[in-house]
Amino acid sequence: MLKEARPSHWPRERYDPRYDPLIDAGPGHNRNYAPTYWIDTAGEPPEDDGPITGDVDVDIAIIGSGYTGLACAIFLAKEYGIKATVLEANTVAWGGATRNGGQAQISSGRLKRSQWIKRWGKDVAIKMHAEIVEAFDVFRDLILSGEFDCLPQRGGHLYLAHRPRMMKMLESESELLNKTFG
Ligand SMILES: Cc1cc2nc3c(=O)[nH]c(=O)nc-3n(C[C@H](O)[C@H](O)[C@H](O)COP(=O)(O)OP(=O)(O)OC[C@H]3O[C@@H](n4cnc5c(N)ncnc54)[C@H](O)[C@@H]3O)c2cc1C
Repeated sequence: MLKEARPSHWPRERYDPRYDPLIDAGPGHNRNYAPTYWIDTAGEPPEDDGPITGDVDVDIAIIGSGYTGLACAIFLAKEYGIKATVLEANTVAWGGATRNGGQAQISSGRLKRSQWIKRWGKDVAIKMHAEIVEAFDVFRDLILSGEFDCLPQRGGHLYLAHRPRMMKMLESESELLNKTFG
């Protein structure tokens, strides 16, 4: 518990619909949640300790309480017994974590595998793929552990060509995926 903090129910700034994590320099602060399905249905968010107003001594400070930050805190606690302090500019899981479509898939961002290779080279692309596959396993194990209140539904992804010329692109991405990333 942070000592020098305000109570958690301080007034929030309005949600800003123009915020885009891929474009904006930062998330702002003290902003309310985006009005998403998750926020609508998940119940009250966990209380936080309010803003830090002075120096605080912590073992590990994690910046951001999205999936990355919270998963990091969970694993630090479970595997190393470390109680990390998670610092959040807005509200718990305010960013992409409460705005997404809820689909877990072995992909990263908006780029195709061929674009990874073009940007970073084949070796890096293969390492990225391996990391994402591993992350998916971790994610699946977390869900199957029963610690979280969610109902995973297994499924695949169907990529459709909406124009004849897109078919060629899908075929070549599929071939690349099977050949290079197996
Ligand atoms: C519309 C949309 C749909 C998506 N659909 C899917 C999907 O179906 N499947 C999927 O796997 N992924 C999807 N994603 C992506 C997924 O949500 C993100 O990859 C994931 O949320 C990233 O987690 P994160 O913890 O890295 O970042 P975030 O969840 O964005 O969390 C970052 C947190 O850090 C805080 N923060 C940032 N900077 C600071 C700072 N300087 N100080 C303090 N706090 C800070 C932010 O306020 C935020 O709460 C989608 C994303 C969007 C936006």
